[in-house]
Amino acid sequence: MTLVVLSVGSNLGDRMARLQAVVDGLGDAVRALSPVYETDAWGGVEQGPFLNAVVIADDDNADGHEWLRRAQALEIANDRVREQKWGPRTLDVDLVSCYDADAEVFSDDERLTLPHPLAHLRAFVMVPWLAVDPDAELTVAGERQRVDRLLAELEPADRDGVRLTGLVLGLSA
Ligand code: AMP
Repeated sequence: MTLVVLSVGSNLGDRMARLQAVVDGLGDAVRALSPVYETDAWGGVEQGPFLNAVVIADDDNADGHEWLRRAQALEIANDRVREQKWGPRTLDVDLVSCYDADAEVFSDDERLTLPHPLAHLRAFVMVPWLAVDPDAELTVAGERQRVDRLLAELEPADRDGVRLTGLVLGLSA
């Protein structure tokens, strides 16, 4: 079993439709969906807030690079524009963490870093992830750590900035 934790975000156009497109695009591989959160953008570029969620998927036939290929195909299919670093985007799909038969997968090549090197600094990744897996763990600097502890180390304003919405993603029929 290869399981992946994906972080999805959108702050342009019909944001909810973009997130749902990821769920629909992954089809039968989807195992769990977090609630949808709204987060103010950061990085110094004036732009609207993001909708963020975490999607957990598994597929025996997908390794880390295959999940990256699927993530990028979904971004392209959703008209992702990359005009500005840290700027608004229709859809961002990041691989947070990947597991092969329960063993965490590590990757450090030019195309794929696993686990995602910024996941432990991003409340908008950790808050949704904990909502679907309260015991989630992540290797940071070579040490396996509980995600709830990593989240607690962030500034309160970062955590509070991730606001639960009433929006709900649906599993494809
Ligand atoms: P971004 O603009 O943040 O979506 O970054 C996309 C680039 O990051 C692509 O060139 C990917 O090959 C690379 N990348 C490296 N590690 C990851 C990861 N864990 N998840 C998604 N993209 C990654």
